Amino acid sequence: MHKIIGILGGMSPESTVAYYQYITRTYTERHGDFGYPEILIYSVSFQTYVDWPRQGRWDLVALGLSQAARVLQDAGAEVLLIATNTMHIVFDQVAASVDVPMLSLLDAVAAEVRRRDIETVGLLGTASTMEHTFYPEALAEKGIAVLVPKREDRRLVHDFIYQELVAGLVRNPSRDAFIRIIDELKARGAQGVILGCTEIPLLVTQEDAPLPLFDTTTIHADAALRHAVQT
Ligand code: GLU
Repeated sequence: MHKIIGILGGMSPESTVAYYQYITRTYTERHGDFGYPEILIYSVSFQTYVDWPRQGRWDLVALGLSQAARVLQDAGAEVLLIATNTMHIVFDQVAASVDVPMLSLLDAVAAEVRRRDIETVGLLGTASTMEHTFYPEALAEKGIAVLVPKREDRRLVHDFIYQELVAGLVRNPSRDAFIRIIDELKARGAQGVILGCTEIPLLVTQEDAPLPLFDTTTIHADAALRHAVQT
């Protein structure tokens, strides 16, 4: 029997859907039937998880996600995911609040970047993701250095995420701006770029970009599928 996957989602729903589709569709592609793992999704009310980080209230984020994680555990989830990059700031606190394993997006992404022999990687995501230390610290453990865009471009990327992508708005001018920012990271020495927000892959895909992209949604969802099916 596969493990039951519990997804802490809704941050935003646009990318939670992508996790769900990836896991179910990829299982069928690989195994030829519909015997994918069972999946429980706890979709939070997103606004509070937008407001708390703005207020610097990571303690409340940790508390809220820990409560949600325990609901998933009590409902039978055997492995948990936080389906957003940003909320990995509180990964350790949430993981400590449950007995079942949690799969870190950062670990999965760092392993994939390493596998591609990349030593310097660009990072795009929310302001919290680009400006806190959790991403560079996780990648430094694998000997990988992180570059982020300059300040005005970080603001632009952050605003595209919260004003467009989390609302399901996919706009060509925004894609062009992302590609310009990726080009600039390349010029500064990035050998690849992490799409470090689970909604960015809805807008920017590998075909658009001049260097390898790391789609964190797919990488994390794939880690969950492999974990649930293998064990
Ligand atoms: N889904 C986004 C991420 O991967 C941002 C939304 C959020 O969690 O605030 O970071």
